[in-house]
Amino acid sequence: MQLIARRFDNGQLVRITIESRWIKQINPVECTKVNMQENGFGQEKQTGHRHPPTADAVSTRKLAAADSWPWVAPGLVDLQVNGYGGQEFSSPDLTVEKVLGIALAMDRFGLVRFCPTITTNSREVTEHALQTIAQACQVPEAAQRIAGIHLEGPYISAQDGARGAHPAAHCRPPNWQEFQQFQKAAKGRIRILTLSPEYPESQEFIRQASATGLVVAIGHTAATPEQIHQAAEAGARMSTHLGNGCHPVLPRHRNYLWAQLADDRLTAGLIADGFHLPPDVLKCLIRAKGPQRCVLVSDLSGMAGLPPGRYRTNLCELEILPSGKMVIAGQQELLAGATLPVGEGVVNAMRYAGLDLSEAIRLATEAPCRILGIEPHRLVPGSPADLVLFDLELEEKQNTQDVQNGQMKNSPSRPQENTKTTPPLLQFHVRATILGGQRVFGNFS
Ligand SMILES: [Zn+2]
Repeated sequence: MQLIARRFDNGQLVRITIESRWIKQINPVECTKVNMQENGFGQEKQTGHRHPPTADAVSTRKLAAADSWPWVAPGLVDLQVNGYGGQEFSSPDLTVEKVLGIALAMDRFGLVRFCPTITTNSREVTEHALQTIAQACQVPEAAQRIAGIHLEGPYISAQDGARGAHPAAHCRPPNWQEFQQFQKAAKGRIRILTLSPEYPESQEFIRQASATGLVVAIGHTAATPEQIHQAAEAGARMSTHLGNGCHPVLPRHRNYLWAQLADDRLTAGLIADGFHLPPDVLKCLIRAKGPQRCVLVSDLSGMAGLPPGRYRTNLCELEILPSGKMVIAGQQELLAGATLPVGEGVVNAMRYAGLDLSEAIRLATEAPCRILGIEPHRLVPGSPADLVLFDLELEEKQNTQDVQNGQMKNSPSRPQENTKTTPPLLQFHVRATILGGQRVFGNFS
């Protein structure tokens, strides 16, 4: 298989030759005209060397009109996916077929690896979900896509605000014996555990869990700044969706947000969907941690992909508002998960935090691989052919194209914004996903 696209990291137009599961060659395309038929896009196009676009290029619309070649990057990795299309992983109804269905649905978002995320629930439901995902991983299609399970809870704060949409009745202090049962049910596939360091048991638990190679993440917490630093000392390496799953009001200085921002041992998971973190907050978090200590996550809800309305889940009753914002039903502020894929976070990191494409892509490729302890895929010969081909499209262009094609958009609807005062919305539009050298999503051949 061969494809032609612009490298995400330097804008160079290249021809990538894929053989079996690997990138065999990457050669610059020097000629000024390349037949688009070779790439399956059906038209001829002038080419030239370009650099990764910046937020400025995004906001001045240079980008979308500039070139119709797709960008190419290593496939995206998402550490936090709760389900999709009406099915949560944390559910007594979960089946192997449903796990496989969700795993395959992630192809459309340019993901090549993801972590099914099991949120706080009863011991029975948690064990059922873990067992079912472990069983699904015996199917090659699921095993290829699932990088490990993210267990978010149940060892989190039971306080309102901190626990977010997690049911208070099941939030509890860490219990090493119970966790070992969970890991057994998961056949050792739990890779990330989100917990709160606020309990007396937490420090020792974090030490034990980290010693097994587990990634301990701090989240849904009411911990003191001291407890945050002690958790990092004990081995915690990450903050789960920093800035979300928090109390609505905090002491202005001595709080767990500053402590996590200040502690360089913690990489910050960020939901950059435009709802969970206001643009100013996203910018400040990325600037404070530095892009090298940030990782984008979608926190995609099991309700993602469904139309606006009220839905009863195992966690709570939630509501998808017409804007795409998903909240706990009956109010407009307390969020209950996300509906936009991690690629949208890439463009928001550019738009709001001033990263260029190369830096922003790394937040959804290298950064999550580093957390998981897996070799990041690179655009070099010999690397696995796990790639995403994508466009950065202005939303209005995207809408027109969708109508023309008569197709659904990849992403659910976005909030309406006043384009006179804010840069135009950009979408991360996946053209194709290549996994293990095979095209698993997209329309090029
Ligand atoms: Zn959460």
